[in-house]
Amino acid sequence: MYPFFELKDFNSFAISAKAKTISTAESIKFLYQQCLYAKNNQLPSLILGEGSNVLFTEDFDGMVILNRIKGIHISNQFKYWHVYAASGENWHHFIEFLMNNKIYGAENLALIPGCVGSAPIQNIGAYGLELKDLCEYVNVLELSTGYILKIQAKSCRFSYRDSIFKHEYQRTHVIIGVGFKFAKQWSPRLTYDELALFNPKTVTPQQIFDFVCNIRRKKLPDPIITGNAGSFFKNPVISKNKAEKIKKIYPKYFPQYHQVNSGVKLAAGALIDQCGLKGFKIGDAAVHMHQASIIINQNRATGSDVVKLAKHVSQTVAKYFNVVLEPEVRFIDRYGEMNPMDCML
Ligand SMILES: Cc1cc2nc3c(=O)[nH]c(=O)nc-3n(C[C@H](O)[C@H](O)[C@H](O)COP(=O)(O)OP(=O)(O)OC[C@H]3O[C@@H](n4cnc5c(N)ncnc54)[C@H](O)[C@@H]3O)c2cc1C
Repeated sequence: MYPFFELKDFNSFAISAKAKTISTAESIKFLYQQCLYAKNNQLPSLILGEGSNVLFTEDFDGMVILNRIKGIHISNQFKYWHVYAASGENWHHFIEFLMNNKIYGAENLALIPGCVGSAPIQNIGAYGLELKDLCEYVNVLELSTGYILKIQAKSCRFSYRDSIFKHEYQRTHVIIGVGFKFAKQWSPRLTYDELALFNPKTVTPQQIFDFVCNIRRKKLPDPIITGNAGSFFKNPVISKNKAEKIKKIYPKYFPQYHQVNSGVKLAAGALIDQCGLKGFKIGDAAVHMHQASIIINQNRATGSDVVKLAKHVSQTVAKYFNVVLEPEVRFIDRYGEMNPMDCML
């Protein structure tokens, strides 16, 4: 028999759920031992960074392993800085560390919650930059052997909010560190609308860092005050034909289109907003009043409140636009990660 441990403080949604046991891994060896212990005792195991991209839909009948493996190492080469960060480092602290060491290039990704080791999993992105633009390789622990493998970035299959770590490597490998490469010759990334106002010849990395931090603090609910997991849904990519049809019916909606290789990416938040769902709530879960892509925990929302609300949102968007919204947040049920689409239909 195990005592039950409260998970509310370990997920940014601040959803109350219980785990059978929780342990904190500060070394690769301990993390591996904990994974083996769980396996030998037929317990499901779940590696957590800072819990900013998960939704506990019910109690978790297994062992949560908090990854707190730390360490950053810089190597100086002719034209580049190569930086290795252990997976349990906080992402924003890592960016501050880079800024303090005059290593530039990651500033557009400032203030994204979570750990360095979680960043490759969904190829985090913001303000025109994605992790894949900086990543050189990812080090993983292969659970079947205990070996540490180096996966070069080109083999990580990074794409929009996706990578190999959500697929083949999801249950079999744990990320233990990430290698980054930064050109010493810095050039600003100003493609995103709000950053386009800066002059590329005079802007400094510190200005971009400050701007991104300010804008995120203004726009996004702070999980310390209001439970949330950032954008709940991915921005859907649809065919050009379908986008044209939507544009005809909702002409004002046109500015929300972004062209991508195989189709058109729509802003999920704009679709939800067009359905009049800002502020809509079920139980204590609500669509954020200003950022429709974000679901918040107003106080005592349960995982089930959030699932019901997400389902309502996705069904309403499907009805109005015939567009399927897919959750970006990872759903964790009693036995571990589940397919969120099973809850949306
Ligand atoms: C306010 C807010 C704003 C956000 N803004 C953005 C944004 O702009 N862009 C963006 O891309 N994301 C954003 N996010 C989402 C989130 O910050 C990222 O997905 C982040 O990388 C999650 O990190 P984490 O450590 O909290 O991961 P967790 O939530 O702890 O884990 C996420 C998943 O990864 C698995 N996992 C964690 N660590 C490991 C590991 N070492 N090895 C293998 N599997 C592991 C977990 O089991 C889980 O399935 C935002 C979230 C919030 C709350």
